Amino acid sequence: MSEAYDLIVIGGGPAGYPAAIRAAQLGMKALCIDGWVNRDGTPSFGGTCLNAGCIPSKALLESSELYHRANHEFAVHGIGVGKVQLDLAKMQERKMAVSKANSGGVKLLFQANKVTGIHGYGRLLGNGQVGYRSLDGKEEKTFTAKHILIATGSEPVNLSKIAPFDGDRVVDSWGALDFTEVPQRLGVIGAGVIGVELGSVWSRLGSKTVILEALPTFLPMADQQIAKEGLRQFQKQGLDIRLGAKVLSAKVGKKEVTVEYEQGGEKKSEAFDKLIVAVGRRPYTKDLGIEAAGVVLDERGFVKVDAHYRTSAPGVYAVGDVIGGFMLAHKGIEEGVVLIEQLAGQKSEVNYNAIPSVIYTAPEIAWVGLTEEAAKAAGHEVKIGTSPFAANGRARAMEAIAGLVKFVSDAKTDRVLGVHMVGPYVSEMLAEAVLALEFGATTEDIQLTMHGHPTLSEAFHEASLAVDGHAIHSANRPKR
Ligand code: FAD
Repeated sequence: MSEAYDLIVIGGGPAGYPAAIRAAQLGMKALCIDGWVNRDGTPSFGGTCLNAGCIPSKALLESSELYHRANHEFAVHGIGVGKVQLDLAKMQERKMAVSKANSGGVKLLFQANKVTGIHGYGRLLGNGQVGYRSLDGKEEKTFTAKHILIATGSEPVNLSKIAPFDGDRVVDSWGALDFTEVPQRLGVIGAGVIGVELGSVWSRLGSKTVILEALPTFLPMADQQIAKEGLRQFQKQGLDIRLGAKVLSAKVGKKEVTVEYEQGGEKKSEAFDKLIVAVGRRPYTKDLGIEAAGVVLDERGFVKVDAHYRTSAPGVYAVGDVIGGFMLAHKGIEEGVVLIEQLAGQKSEVNYNAIPSVIYTAPEIAWVGLTEEAAKAAGHEVKIGTSPFAANGRARAMEAIAGLVKFVSDAKTDRVLGVHMVGPYVSEMLAEAVLALEFGATTEDIQLTMHGHPTLSEAFHEASLAVDGHAIHSANRPKR
């Protein structure tokens, strides 16, 4: 007889493993099947995020930032360090250790919560059945469950006709995290979040980095005042970001890869030692038995779900990257947990208006809610307040004065509609803005909240004051 569960989760990434844990906490018998295998052959829970995404990229961003600071920023503090040495092998070793500590933590969490976690591949067989095949293909089993959750995530888009991955010169984001040498000339296709973060890592470590972006606008999803300031800062650091540059082909030779692109109606070409293709991610549903189970995909291949994450097959649900929307770990985590709580009869839901977005560059870019452009397009009469980090004592003490905080508030109701920042550690400051949106705060609520001095968060407070022309430490915008 097949083993029976209340919940089977296929995929142990950020959307899948928290759902399995929450289910066990709520008394369900939960099984999580995950097929991730690292390049060294070790199976590992945590999906893209812990093994080839959020965590290893942040480990390298941190290391490369320290290297950059030691080279370029220590002197101004009166610290001389002589010639700074780069030990890339050690840096990569630390990155792996950080990833492994996190993914090992998932295993421990499964044990602590009595979730059965197994490595292998899951397949929908219909009628509440899931087929299991071990990673080496030697063992096969069938499980049954009341509820089945698809959390199989996404994979990088391969420009197979223009610049196909070859795993050596032309790589995806995972390959770009694993370089064993700093490429002298690095090309990146795509100036989205992943392209800019990976470009920053290698640029700080010494690569001459060119980012080719087909769109004419930098970070079109971000508030454009913030995006422009971010672009200015990145260009100042030497990141060569070329907008409106549409890649036509990438030809791999013995020693380099030559990229042809069109910009401003002109054909151009540039040779690189390595080329990272970072043009987005697409849903991963390979060998999942989608059709047999009656699960319908949309025209872009995402699993179609309703507002309660129900697919078109009874008892089968989907969350995370595989259903689209913001392809972010925290969005997947929330969806998985909320779904399980709904299945347990709780009134839980995801607030899609308060999803934080972060780009972990230096300065960082972070935002939540409506941009000024989107708020106006949605018919809001807006009032804006900004505060530059140049007017913030802590930022001055840190020698990190680039950037600003911007509030977008509703002029009629005073409601905070969005907060947008570029500057030091704004990823951490963003939580306050998310809370403001989640609690439906007015600008005045923030204005009346005392902030510690000297902290970076005072820039957040000052920006709220600036909305109504009350900023104390910077000039207020003249009233229009
Ligand atoms: P995944 O993490 O992709 O997990 C899916 C899992 O399912 C995988 O382990 C896969 O092997 C497994 N699987 C697939 N099919 C099967 C099957 N049939 N049987 C068993 N297992 C299967 N997001 C952020 O929020 N913050 C960041 O800073 C950030 N940085 C990123 C940096 C990079 C370089 C990349 C590539 C992504 C980054 N992301 C970041 C995005 C984030 O990684 C994803 O949004 C997140 O991992 C999605 O979670 P998921 O659980 O839906 O899918």
